[in-house]
Amino acid sequence: MTYELRVAHLYGDLMNTYGDVGNILALNYYAKQIDVKLTTTVVSLNQKFNADDYDLIVFGGGQDFEQEVISTDIQKKKPELTRFIESNGPVLAICGGFQLLGHYYEGANGEKIQGVGALDHYTLKQDNHRFIGDITIKNPENGEVYHGFENHQGRTFLGQDEKPLGTVVEGHGNNGEDGTEGVIYKNVYGTYFHGPILTRNANLAKRLLIAALKRKYPNADLRAQEALPVGATF
Ligand code: GLN
Repeated sequence: MTYELRVAHLYGDLMNTYGDVGNILALNYYAKQIDVKLTTTVVSLNQKFNADDYDLIVFGGGQDFEQEVISTDIQKKKPELTRFIESNGPVLAICGGFQLLGHYYEGANGEKIQGVGALDHYTLKQDNHRFIGDITIKNPENGEVYHGFENHQGRTFLGQDEKPLGTVVEGHGNNGEDGTEGVIYKNVYGTYFHGPILTRNANLAKRLLIAALKRKYPNADLRAQEALPVGATF
């Protein structure tokens, strides 16, 4: 294949709620169609994350317990994670992963779990309640509609330089109050969607792949890749 993208599956052994690993399978499926070889490495506890070793990060969702374990470890990865994000590295972060990219997450028992602070959002708890169910959102800028399933107790509030992935059409979204769902910051896409999100929303898979290709191969002619038809079924 002409192109190669290296995926870091961040804490892939610990964060995989509702089969979020399916996002990697979906990326593989689309990558093959556009002449891209995808290699995936799980980067977990006590393992080094070097920003230059990867072209794309996938960070799945998880339970409070796993998030607490990761919270300590991810601080060591903070400088390189931040460097990756600030240099327009594409990231897909789901639910617990999305929360941990921000400042902090309050667990169901009120414990404050420190995030990596690479993004400017924070997540508060809610009392004896979770947001569970099907969700649909629409991105106000590009008009794309995304479908998924949410199950989270955390209520996330975005920072000033963060845009939502979409506006809630059906469901709860980031916090059940302000109509936002997920985040876009540079090439970081965060969301509460499981499903896994990319198997149901091929247009987002395409965005991530194209962003990674453009960043790694700035002089390549990627018109064929950009013509990838989305909406294929598995
Ligand atoms: N533990 C977090 C919460 O309940 C994240 C859950 C998840 O990743 N599905 O909000």
